[in-house]
Amino acid sequence: MFACCKKEKKTVLKRTFSVRSATIQSPRLSTADPQMVEWKEQLSQGDQSYESRVAFWNGGMSMCIKCGSRAIERMEEQSGVRTNGDAYGVVVFSCKRCGWNTSFDFDDGSFDCWYYEAIGWPRGVLHYPISYMVTWARKHQLPENVDQVIKNQRITGNIMLELDKKQHVESTLGVSRSTADQIHAILQDKFGGILTITE
Ligand SMILES: [Zn+2]
Repeated sequence: MFACCKKEKKTVLKRTFSVRSATIQSPRLSTADPQMVEWKEQLSQGDQSYESRVAFWNGGMSMCIKCGSRAIERMEEQSGVRTNGDAYGVVVFSCKRCGWNTSFDFDDGSFDCWYYEAIGWPRGVLHYPISYMVTWARKHQLPENVDQVIKNQRITGNIMLELDKKQHVESTLGVSRSTADQIHAILQDKFGGILTITE
């Protein structure tokens, strides 16, 4: 009789809340898919506008779209991993100078493009701000102070594409035919927009 009561008391005690047992007993965070271990959602952050992100991505993800600073901090956050070892998650990029930030989803299993959201995005200087275009001109060592002309005339990537399309680069920028041809060739180059080499 005594032993029975003792046992019951023990059971009651066991049922009282304990942080430790709650932690141990709570179900693991995972999806129903046994092929996948999910720790958390892929949460997008910051500036998610297409205009900003297509330019940032094409430029090489190393320069702030707002202030032109190269002090870009990159933080990779894994959301999960599949049984084959492929991880997926989010990479957050933030500017240490002005605080602008954005994020891109990534997936090891995406063969076409690690940042799979960018699959199908156009390559080049589309939506480049003036600061990007100045760096672009310097990177390609364009003659006739094209970088200064871009700065003074406030030539964005979209304006440059438009001028090139209408064959107005020579007249509007006041450069020689050969420089206009050089600009045309760079604009045609799929990876001509990448800004990884600084002046
Ligand atoms: Zn910035």
